[in-house]
Amino acid sequence: MVSRVIPVDPFDLVLFGATGDLAKRKILPGLFHRFEVGQMPSEARIIGSARTEMDAETFRQVTKDAIEQFTPDSPNRAKTLAQFLERLDYVTVDVSSDQGWQTLADALRPDVVRAFYLSVGPSLFADIAGRLHDCGLATPDSRIVVEKPFGRDLSSARALNEGLRACFEEHQIYRIDHYLGKETVQNLMALRFANSLFEPLWNATHVDHVQITVAESIGIDGRGAYYDQSGAMRDMVQNHLVQLLCLTAMEPPSKFTPNAVRDEKVKVIEALDPVEPGDIARGQYRADAGGDGYRDHVGNPSSNTESFIAMKVSVANWRWSGTPFYLRTGKRLRARESEIAVVFRDPPHTIFPNVGRLRGNVLVIRLQPDEGITLRTTIKDPGPGGLRLSEVSLDMSFADALGADVRQQDAYERLVMDVIRGDQTLFMRGDEVEAAWAWVDPIIRNWEETGDQPAAYDPGTSGPEEALMLMHRDGRRWRHIGG
Ligand code: NAD
Repeated sequence: MVSRVIPVDPFDLVLFGATGDLAKRKILPGLFHRFEVGQMPSEARIIGSARTEMDAETFRQVTKDAIEQFTPDSPNRAKTLAQFLERLDYVTVDVSSDQGWQTLADALRPDVVRAFYLSVGPSLFADIAGRLHDCGLATPDSRIVVEKPFGRDLSSARALNEGLRACFEEHQIYRIDHYLGKETVQNLMALRFANSLFEPLWNATHVDHVQITVAESIGIDGRGAYYDQSGAMRDMVQNHLVQLLCLTAMEPPSKFTPNAVRDEKVKVIEALDPVEPGDIARGQYRADAGGDGYRDHVGNPSSNTESFIAMKVSVANWRWSGTPFYLRTGKRLRARESEIAVVFRDPPHTIFPNVGRLRGNVLVIRLQPDEGITLRTTIKDPGPGGLRLSEVSLDMSFADALGADVRQQDAYERLVMDVIRGDQTLFMRGDEVEAAWAWVDPIIRNWEETGDQPAAYDPGTSGPEEALMLMHRDGRRWRHIGG
């Protein structure tokens, strides 16, 4: 199947933080790929900006190096890359000073889509928005894109929202959660709302429970100072896991428009019950034989921050009452693996003698490493010897089914093109972010007030014993991490 690439309108994209890690690893390579496949028109321009003094030629060289490092080689890459680099410009701006803004304003064209991508720390969001506004650059159809983390609690998220909304309307603000740009995440919506097979079964009557796992095999990896102030709850659960939960649990929106979809997601977050301390397992990876542990990685020998969390969550509404959602995420686990597993109830009765317990079907929506969907079913074991049953997976890998272009499309490049198109469906709305913090805040506050200590776990495992117990006591098991 060939994916259709529909070119977007000409645009000026200002990339603040253009010399940073995210810009080099994801955003610029992603834009290049969109150019390579013909989606980015030749009139499009990318204006890199950061406080580092450099001219446009040096920025082109920096971008070239990044793209060569972070994108796979292709037969025509050198030629296409040279054409792409011609689209690039650079303006030095220290966003906390007055300098550079007029040069930036002069570099922008009045008659094309205008987007400002803030790939900088959140403490700069409001400043940049204010300066753009004061320079007259925040025109009514311009867009502003902000990265995570969007606040560290409800009050800081509110302050960020207020700062942005003082200069831009909500329909101009794109809050990135790159999980929403993953092919499978959108496919979850297609699977649910474009097929009649699953939706009648998508409720507490038929679904025993849902497991959402985002497991990483790497540790803190150089981001120690940030991570130790944040932990798995703020860094992963409040945003990515809550978003996956919302897409799994939400009601069908009446239409596929950004606000109709986001209205339904907010309703899910607002229906989340407060989580009891006993329904949470926190963990922190300890040192393995030859290496360092979490506390060494963050340089804080007495850190209480969790690098792992598992929790049982209830969505208190008609559809999901009695069907728990188990969320789990952590670092230094057995494998890098993210999935949503919808575990259906066991068949109520078996007509087959001597086969033991018949287990329910499991629909697995895999986000990484290999995006796809699997349905676990029970079939007859082939061959003679009487009727024996075994479990097999009906497996669809998107890369195999949909071709090479899908395999290479990264979440960031899809999301940046959505910004240019003016489609906010896959971006978090301000009230959604605040609702998620309102749910998470009391949990964190309770840990702080009680001095809660995360349980130690060994690297390369599936987390602490406490997480296993969370499931076992309910007569359930986590799915195995690592295939
Ligand atoms: P970084 O520290 O590597 O880069 C920061 C960029 O901001 C640099 O280009 C720097 O020059 C610029 N900058 C800093 N202060 C400035 C100022 N006063 N004026 C002008 N420019 C200034 O950071 P990063 O890792 O690229 O992250 C950028 C944002 O993306 C952060 O909000 C981060 O939380 C978020 N994010 C990063 C990643 C990642 O993988 N790196 C993942 C998710 C979210």
